[in-house]
Amino acid sequence: MMGWHIEQEGLNGGIIYHDGQFDDSRLAINLAQTAVEKGAVLVNYMRCCGLLKDGPHVSGVRLRDEESGAEMQVQAKVVINATGVFADAVRQMDDAAAKPMLSPSQGIHFVLPREFLPGDTAIMIPKTDDGRVLFAVPWHGRVVVGTTDTPVASASLEPRALAEEIDFIFTQVSRYLTRDPQRSDVLSVFAGLRPLIKAEAGSTAALSRDHLITISDSGLITLAGGKWTTYRKMAEDVIDHAEMIGALDHRHCATHELPIHGSETTPTDETHLHYYGSDAPGIRALIAADPALGELLHPRLEFLKAEVLWHVRHEMARTVEDVLARRTRALLLDARASAEAAPAVARLMAQELGKDALWEQQQIQAYEILAQGYLLPA
Ligand SMILES: Cc1cc2nc3c(=O)[nH]c(=O)nc-3n(C[C@H](O)[C@H](O)[C@H](O)COP(=O)(O)OP(=O)(O)OC[C@H]3O[C@@H](n4cnc5c(N)ncnc54)[C@H](O)[C@@H]3O)c2cc1C
Repeated sequence: MMGWHIEQEGLNGGIIYHDGQFDDSRLAINLAQTAVEKGAVLVNYMRCCGLLKDGPHVSGVRLRDEESGAEMQVQAKVVINATGVFADAVRQMDDAAAKPMLSPSQGIHFVLPREFLPGDTAIMIPKTDDGRVLFAVPWHGRVVVGTTDTPVASASLEPRALAEEIDFIFTQVSRYLTRDPQRSDVLSVFAGLRPLIKAEAGSTAALSRDHLITISDSGLITLAGGKWTTYRKMAEDVIDHAEMIGALDHRHCATHELPIHGSETTPTDETHLHYYGSDAPGIRALIAADPALGELLHPRLEFLKAEVLWHVRHEMARTVEDVLARRTRALLLDARASAEAAPAVARLMAQELGKDALWEQQQIQAYEILAQGYLLPA
């Protein structure tokens, strides 16, 4: 137990159980790549800003290209609204009087250096003061601690951790770790919104984590709620509904047998590049051709310059934020270091995308402002 850095006082015993862990940014990208390989057309930075109607029926979407500002229309046999915590906003494009079906719940995490929990085993605190579970989990060579369950009135793009949520996690986790973390130890703090299905009353911790599919009178399909752990089932259910609404041919669902992009039975790379699975040799090949690409982006981050090129060439990265927050989790692992890495990322991206010095400056500035929001005020 000593090796786990668990507070010994009052400790009578414990149990070990096993659970799965993953990197959500990498899984989201690998799923998108799998979709492309199966024939899907994916477009990022394209906002749905309205729905097209043919009489009473939804017949497509109005889109705005967030890079150029250009607007366009796309006709479709079926429109599926799978916009997470923003699903109600799209439902109201269909029917301005549609009652909200989601009750967003904020959860925050913060990240500590590995010294606070040096082993490979996570700690689960089974009952916090608000009756939830709290985790301290080794992740990417650091420790991620969370989470909270705070009902919020509306969805926002950049939710922020509340002071009371931060205090709550400090108090809870300090009871169980031998060394109490201080605010100055926190490498990054971040908040997310769970798209929970609304209940008439009660706390959000008791709301359904299951998904719900609704079909509006005009035929808009909305997939709401759900979890990462059930995404394949969510996809299967929603496509079955789409076949019905769009009078499409029924096809056998292959999701149970479908390996996703990058999957390999035995991980071959022993560095952090193993998160890329079978793509890791591709990144290694970039470094073999130009050894400078093997340099770190920042001394406190494990990410390499070659990864930035890979993200631009193969993973549709368009901004510095894409690379540091959504292709890697640098922003969440060490917000300050990631902001210091932004100029190097902007340089590499500008060369690759043919952008000028002004673009580079704007990208660095925008990223610095974003990263500020992930630092804990002293
Ligand atoms: C704190 C926290 C802890 C969690 N823990 C777990 C866990 O332990 N296990 C688990 O399985 N799940 C967990 N989840 C849940 C999981 O992360 C979410 O259920 C999941 O991210 C929701 O997926 P989604 O695809 O429905 O929505 P999102 O991931 O939010 O995706 C919706 C997408 O739609 C886009 N979008 C929105 N509006 C528009 C528009 N108008 N036009 C175009 N695009 C639009 C958004 O940009 C976004 O990319 C947790 C969530 C949180 C917040």
